[in-house]
Amino acid sequence: MESSFPTEQVYDSDMDQRPQTPPAETVQPTDGSPYPPFPGVEPYDTVRSIDDERAHRLHVCALGYRIFGSMRWGQLGDGHISARDPEWTDHFWLLDWGIPFGQATADRLVLVGPGGRVRDRSGDYTGAVNTAGYNIHAPLLEARPDAVSAAHTHTPYGTPWSANVSPFLAISQESCAFVFDQGLFDDEEVEVLSYDGGKRIAAATGSAKLCILRNHGLLTVGHSVEEAVGWFVMAERVAEVHVKAPNAIPISDEAAAVAASTLGDPHAGWRLFQWLGAGLDS
Ligand SMILES: [Zn+2]
Repeated sequence: MESSFPTEQVYDSDMDQRPQTPPAETVQPTDGSPYPPFPGVEPYDTVRSIDDERAHRLHVCALGYRIFGSMRWGQLGDGHISARDPEWTDHFWLLDWGIPFGQATADRLVLVGPGGRVRDRSGDYTGAVNTAGYNIHAPLLEARPDAVSAAHTHTPYGTPWSANVSPFLAISQESCAFVFDQGLFDDEEVEVLSYDGGKRIAAATGSAKLCILRNHGLLTVGHSVEEAVGWFVMAERVAEVHVKAPNAIPISDEAAAVAASTLGDPHAGWRLFQWLGAGLDS
């Protein structure tokens, strides 16, 4: 996104004071990307121990819920963000039932196992999570071993757009991240009451980062929690453009592919999360 791409240094009006080279600390990424690091954020490709990775996933999963809460999403208990456990890879973490998204913390997440069995942080079996949360996330994460997380909630533009039963077109910059990498779940199981419904969603998603669930809303998938949440928020922005510009004319596939090459990779989704989380991370 051009507004965040540090392609040039901005200097004050005193051109005589303009340095020949920017200060080194502003141009030295630590993760191989062309971007400077985010203050206080571990680099994109940080390798962690199992315990540290679990703690990280729990931290960013809770932060993802708070990001959704800051947008007034999930107020009706609609939606979920999953984080696959790094050790028990057929288990994933979700926010415990009844916790407002804006109050999500790592210690309020619960571990969901095969069959929907739910344990708290102490390992004790506890109540249940949202049924659709299990039915959507379990088969999706099973079908996508490359994925760590999926994100879904009912949003002001994603849900209306989904009722058109149409994929996104390349009608805005951010749209290009999805137009070559999206699925459409054209199915009437809008409440996802069955595990089989989730398996059909996983099949419709395929290897894509986005699935538009007919008459329901948006679902995104990421190789990290950060990526899934970043894609979700950007997909909602794309849906807003689609709803507000019903007669929009898309750019060419060739031009869209150029934008997709920088906007659509996993690192881009991760960066979106860092912008979203800044100020909500405590
Ligand atoms: Zn839903």
